[in-house]
Amino acid sequence: MIPPASGSALDWAWAADVRALLFDFDGPVCRLFEGHDTGRMADDLRGILRGHDADLSGLHQERNAHTILRRTRGLAGAALAEAEKWLTERECEAASTARLTPGVRDLIEGLSIPLAVASNNAWDAIDGCLRREGLLERFSGGIHGRDPKEPWRMKPHPDCIERALHHLGADDRERVALIGDSEADAEAAREAGIAFVGFVPEGRANAARLTELGARVVVAEMTELTRVFLPGRD
Ligand SMILES: [Mg+2]
Repeated sequence: MIPPASGSALDWAWAADVRALLFDFDGPVCRLFEGHDTGRMADDLRGILRGHDADLSGLHQERNAHTILRRTRGLAGAALAEAEKWLTERECEAASTARLTPGVRDLIEGLSIPLAVASNNAWDAIDGCLRREGLLERFSGGIHGRDPKEPWRMKPHPDCIERALHHLGADDRERVALIGDSEADAEAAREAGIAFVGFVPEGRANAARLTELGARVVVAEMTELTRVFLPGRD
């Protein structure tokens, strides 16, 4: 457990009331681009947008492809279509070999409450990974990836969370939690009015920041969540 969450029963008392869990995909479910050259991906995506005369000011060193994809806003539809198709293909390629996050299979397979994915990644990539791993049917709340027509509504915008809540028919938002690993996840959960569980594997340093942004708890390993949501299983 990462401070300030102490791991006491009090910290986790709310977990017993959680009625649905949403998973961010890249990080909590799998390590999507592990071993991939994300710098090269960012360069290639910039090249596509440059071909459509996009304003790339401030993005020349950016390594996050999603941040670059946002710059399609206001461009002709052809620019968005080409960039979105290219990135979806890269995400599908990565998802085809991505390893599950250690411990997440036990958590997903053991939970009996409704689950959903709320992610900035492409629906096809998430669907492909979960299908290959035999986990797709566990997500009765559906897969809610980025909107390919409006990718600028990725988290921290709460759009994918709102779609998941609608699909789940969840009206008591405080009893729904998102498990995520980024500041955008925390901000989107707060905007949607749901609880947030931070997942920060060892070696990453944003646990304090996620707590500042409202994380109920921050964990370093999925097994910590298994212990809480599936007591007696380990
Ligand atoms: Mg993530």
